[in-house]
Amino acid sequence: MKQSVLISGGGIVGTFLGLELAARNIPFKIIERDLPEPSKFDDIRSLTLNSTTHDRLQALGVETASSAIQEMKVLDGLGTGSLSFTAQEAKLDYLAAVLNFSKLRNSLLQKVSSSMIHSKEITSFHAHQSGITGVLSDGSELEASLLVVAEGRNSKLADLIAPQKTQKNYNQIARTFLVQIHKFTPDQAIQVFHEQEIFALMPYKSGDSDHIFSVVWSVPGVMGAGESQDDVLADLAKFEKKLACKIKPISDILSFPLFAHHLDEYCDTGICVIADSAHSIHPLAGQGINLGLADASILAEEIEKGFNTGQNIGHISFLKKYELRRKAINATMLNGVDLIFKIFQQDNPYFRVLRNLGLNKIDNFTYLKKQFIFYASGIYKI
Ligand SMILES: Cc1cc2nc3c(=O)[nH]c(=O)nc-3n(C[C@H](O)[C@H](O)[C@H](O)COP(=O)(O)OP(=O)(O)OC[C@H]3O[C@@H](n4cnc5c(N)ncnc54)[C@H](O)[C@@H]3O)c2cc1C
Repeated sequence: MKQSVLISGGGIVGTFLGLELAARNIPFKIIERDLPEPSKFDDIRSLTLNSTTHDRLQALGVETASSAIQEMKVLDGLGTGSLSFTAQEAKLDYLAAVLNFSKLRNSLLQKVSSSMIHSKEITSFHAHQSGITGVLSDGSELEASLLVVAEGRNSKLADLIAPQKTQKNYNQIARTFLVQIHKFTPDQAIQVFHEQEIFALMPYKSGDSDHIFSVVWSVPGVMGAGESQDDVLADLAKFEKKLACKIKPISDILSFPLFAHHLDEYCDTGICVIADSAHSIHPLAGQGINLGLADASILAEEIEKGFNTGQNIGHISFLKKYELRRKAINATMLNGVDLIFKIFQQDNPYFRVLRNLGLNKIDNFTYLKKQFIFYASGIYKI
């Protein structure tokens, strides 16, 4: 039988994996349970892609409007500490690109539509000598050499193959909405750490309007705690003061609960897990989808090697190569982001002074900043 891949989940990462496989002439099918319906909130949610990921999407022919970040400023909301990263100091064309989530997803869906089965899901599967059989919700069966789980967080298939995981509830929600600010240029991103809150502004292309920024603002709380839009907007005043500018909201506010998790294992015979099904991360570094898309690119690279050399791509020893290349890098990013989160949650005044001094010191340390940029840009790989 010619080897093929079954992908469960047609979100951004599942469809991107499909494109990576198509570019290598490897047959695949995507099973998506719920296709997105157009919504009035489609314009609001943004994604920050690092330059490696964004360049790869463009190389695969996925073009959507984006804003290129040249400078990223990090400020301590309770002091004078600040840190600035620029593309120029790392000799990169840009640090990251900000895209609209729904537009990116729709253009990926369009590119893989002929290989997609929707409104169904894989309810069970069994591995056998020639690959795996997936049983769908309508009782039909699909055969493949490998099943890749890209179902996002809370995937039942992922739980089946890796019941052990580390997880953390941040007891925070992320508010996201669009604002207009005239002070900053459309290539600047700003992040303010203020007590328990993290306020990020990313330049964003929205219709013909200028000076639009996408806000991702994490605050302590739980979903459905009944905060009103007016309460949220009144809360903006402290950031207007810190940034010495007027922040004018221009959209509704969306909220998401924030968790992190990481599976102990990414694969078993005939099956492997990628992206948010394997790991999720606090959005403070905008790395969630970058890690997921990097999982997909590396898995496609490994599948291509196996496919071309006649190896069984569902064999556990083969799949462990993908796990080896991704798990340590993902764990380092998850732990790094968690450490930054903890450092900025400290309200001890002595610690705060040290933190501000530390930020200013690092700002003068070009070598360290360059290493950080290369890591966040996805340039370092195993
Ligand atoms: C507020 C917020 C802001 C963020 N900002 C950024 C950012 O700036 N940069 C960044 O890199 N990341 C960001 N992230 C993280 C990013 O959105 C996720 O990492 C990313 O969407 C995960 O993609 P995915 O394809 O793995 O999963 P998902 O986007 O969850 O897609 C999973 C897909 O699988 C389908 N599915 C689910 N179950 C099944 C099933 N049983 N069978 C078939 N299909 C199924 C779903 O319908 C869905 O289409 C942010 C997250 C939040 C909450």
